Amino acid sequence: MEDMGKLLDAVEAKRDDMVAFLSKMISIPALGPENGGVGEIEKVEWIEEQLTNMGITDLKRYDAPDDRVPSGIRPNLVATVPGSDASLAPLWIVCHTDVVPPGEMSLWDTDPFEAVEKDGMLFGRGTEDNGQELVASLFAMQALFDHDLQPVRTVKFVLVADEELGSTYGIRYLVDNEDIFSVGGPIIVPDGGVPEGDLIETAEKSIVWLKVQTLGKQCHASMPANGINAHRAAAHYMVQLEQVLRDKYPNMDPIFDPPESTIEPTKHEANVDNINSIPGEDIFYFDIRLNPCYDPDELMEEARAVADKIGEEMRVKINLSTVQYEKAAPPTPADDPSVTLLSKAIKQVRGIETKVYGIGGGTCAAFFRRKGLGAVVWATMDEVAHEPNERIVIKNMVDDAKVYAALFLLE
Ligand SMILES: [Zn+2]
Repeated sequence: MEDMGKLLDAVEAKRDDMVAFLSKMISIPALGPENGGVGEIEKVEWIEEQLTNMGITDLKRYDAPDDRVPSGIRPNLVATVPGSDASLAPLWIVCHTDVVPPGEMSLWDTDPFEAVEKDGMLFGRGTEDNGQELVASLFAMQALFDHDLQPVRTVKFVLVADEELGSTYGIRYLVDNEDIFSVGGPIIVPDGGVPEGDLIETAEKSIVWLKVQTLGKQCHASMPANGINAHRAAAHYMVQLEQVLRDKYPNMDPIFDPPESTIEPTKHEANVDNINSIPGEDIFYFDIRLNPCYDPDELMEEARAVADKIGEEMRVKINLSTVQYEKAAPPTPADDPSVTLLSKAIKQVRGIETKVYGIGGGTCAAFFRRKGLGAVVWATMDEVAHEPNERIVIKNMVDDAKVYAALFLLE
């Protein structure tokens, strides 16, 4: 397309406006009530005003009631820009407006809620997670408007609340209560990625955080026959369960890094205070990420069988429970339009080939995949979300905006 060069230059020319927009967004913290915040309402109302000024007037709110915040609502916004080809399903771009708290303030070099530009980067809480891509996609649309261009597909910008604390009042609310996504269409969740921008996330592993409580009998360490050592039994359980699971789940799926299921004993809770006591109780945890070809329900059965075996052999009781248990959603196929369109746009703008990949688990895209809707996670970023001194490389925001501009013009 001959106009493409001009259009991309127009996006580039919006750099400072994009930085100003994102900086203003950063100055309106949107923290969930669990984090002592008042929710997203102020930020979303400000964004609504800006969208109207940009000429995006089809704005629809789907507010989830939440009496823990002063406004009583967690706002979800869908902004629609009609496409030229009504026969095509819309393109969805799903960003979240909430942010995580700054954490330890002394670790920040700048005020987390006052964006600071330095060395080509913009610092502030929420710059990367998830401000950058919201701004990039909106300004790409504005560049189209400036050139009197209309997107080919109808574009739906979806701004959701509550992503950082489980999405009950955000994407989960929308998917479960509002029938807006059933029309289909490619879904992009630009909330994760790599600095090269060449990876498109299409899959995730199941997550099982397993709590292992072993009960024996406490006694003096010099007289072990008087008790039952829960710590030793737990150690046997740790080693045996790992072995059983490794044998049972050997699959190597090359779209993941690492390709195998991961089985890691992690946290251990304090037991006895003194060295000369045999602990009567032991609690530790596994963080397990299971490749999506396996069923975590079966894993739990295996874990119980090993617990019973060790329990009998070592005269302890091993109780299992899960702290987190998320079954992987079905992966988005590599030929889904969300993958093919996005990779085409990236190729057009940057001349690079993309690859699909999977991650350890837990993105917004899973809510769509569980409903049978193809969704991808993509952005160009360093992945410093949730860290002190969260920042973006401003060039990444501008370059991603160019990808969106090209994407909006694809069929
Ligand atoms: Zn995020």
